[in-house]
Amino acid sequence: MSTTDVLLIGAGPAGLACAATILAHSDLSVVVLDAGHGPGGQYWRQPAPAAGPNALVPGELADLHHDQTTFAELLQEVQRGRAEGRLELRSEQHVWSLVPVGDGYAAHTVDRAGGPSRTAGSTTRARAVLVATGAYDRALPFPGWDLPGVMTVGGLQALLKAGGVAAGRRVAIGGTGPFLLPVAAGLARRGSTVVGVYEANRPTLWLREARAVARNPAKLGEGAGYAGTLIRHRVPVRTGRMIVAAHGTDRVEAVTVARLDRAGRPVVGSEHRLAVDAVGVGWGFTPQLDLAVTLGVDRRPDVAGTEVVAVDDLQRTSRPGVYAAGEVCGVGGAALAVAEGTLAGAAIVADLGRGAAPESLVRQGRRSVDRLRGFADAILRAHPVPAGWADRLEPQTVVCRCEEVSYAAVRAAIDERGAGDARQVKQLTRTGMGWCQGRVCGYAAGLLTCGAPGPAVERLVSAPVPLGALADAAAGSDD
Ligand SMILES: Cc1cc2nc3c(=O)[nH]c(=O)nc-3n(C[C@H](O)[C@H](O)[C@H](O)COP(=O)(O)OP(=O)(O)OC[C@H]3O[C@@H](n4cnc5c(N)ncnc54)[C@H](O)[C@@H]3O)c2cc1C
Repeated sequence: MSTTDVLLIGAGPAGLACAATILAHSDLSVVVLDAGHGPGGQYWRQPAPAAGPNALVPGELADLHHDQTTFAELLQEVQRGRAEGRLELRSEQHVWSLVPVGDGYAAHTVDRAGGPSRTAGSTTRARAVLVATGAYDRALPFPGWDLPGVMTVGGLQALLKAGGVAAGRRVAIGGTGPFLLPVAAGLARRGSTVVGVYEANRPTLWLREARAVARNPAKLGEGAGYAGTLIRHRVPVRTGRMIVAAHGTDRVEAVTVARLDRAGRPVVGSEHRLAVDAVGVGWGFTPQLDLAVTLGVDRRPDVAGTEVVAVDDLQRTSRPGVYAAGEVCGVGGAALAVAEGTLAGAAIVADLGRGAAPESLVRQGRRSVDRLRGFADAILRAHPVPAGWADRLEPQTVVCRCEEVSYAAVRAAIDERGAGDARQVKQLTRTGMGWCQGRVCGYAAGLLTCGAPGPAVERLVSAPVPLGALADAAAGSDD
């Protein structure tokens, strides 16, 4: 077991910004734990060490990463902290449990470098903890979505960034939200033919968001950059369209795309079929709340009804000594995560009485959070899941891939056995009981039962752990 003043869980933009602030404005010791193979999180994801013979070298990935200057500055601060012996960055350490102990908290981890057998476990105790565990891709089922070659857009992006791998030669992109554009642009630049980007919503929804857009002109510039790339590569971007089916025998060979009416329902007779060898579909992101929920911190619904961690204006949660920043406080992108991480760092330094961040830094952080949170809320309002997303599901469409539960079984649980929420569907059908513990199918189960995402699920053990790691944790707790 090791002890430190401050424990940061997650080395993405939020965690790194928090670390840099603490190092710059206090003498506190910091441990950063991250499940990935290096710092950066999703946004600054680095190539995997064993990315394979076709992997691109890091320089060739530069166009996939934005705001490298901020990343370099944060890393420099982290390196300085390491050199001074004040910061430890431990990669490939997955925190599976975070519990209160004495006047602080204990994080139990498994060593991911150990591969699937993962035998080594360890415990870190700290007086203050930041939960900056980010988010994961949000998927919705459709006929054929379980064919090899059909992925989430985040999955396509992760393959590009971590391995330099373009998932296919002819790729269709669908779903909703601005994230579809960088993924399509990245693939097009890597030589894939992107047969189309099918955005379910119409741009007119953005007319109501003029204020948020006017306050964030840089976002317009970013969007224009992606649009330029897509035009240069002749990638068609179609709005009010949805991928309603994927077809193939051993893997995906084609998709069917349908037009949506004003109510968001696929229009009969509007379908057309396109040959593809890969598909990416994304309906936004779900905050990774496992550790926060188990600790019992207060949550609140975001503007789309998804639960996020509730924080005060310095990222303090309802539990003394527990702070949260980044996507766990509401999905909003890397710049917002950096601003929130900075504020959390300032709060930790002040609350532990070991220094003070300048007032100007805090004021600037608050202004950035307000402005960027406004834009994030606008995205959620302008990119809802269309009302008719489930209209084309077939009885045999798989809803829960881990437990192979069909749409017919889920419907029967709702219509015949009265299941009123995702939890009851789970009890009646095993939807969400498999390896992913509902991270993939839970959102769909919530929408199908009550038309809303449903509450974040409590997972006492947030990742599969071997018995050896449980024993290590028990020993660590007794120390
Ligand atoms: C698959 C995917 C791809 C994305 N790609 C992009 C992109 O290309 N461009 C873009 O603008 N936005 C992208 N995003 C959105 C992105 O989440 C944010 O823009 C930004 O990275 C948020 O920063 P963060 O620090 O809150 O979280 P993240 O960057 O997600 O960092 C969270 C970190 O916490 C770690 N972690 C999580 N749980 C644990 C645990 N239990 N124990 C230890 N470590 C843990 C993760 O390994 C990760 O490094 C992507 C999101 C996803 C899910």
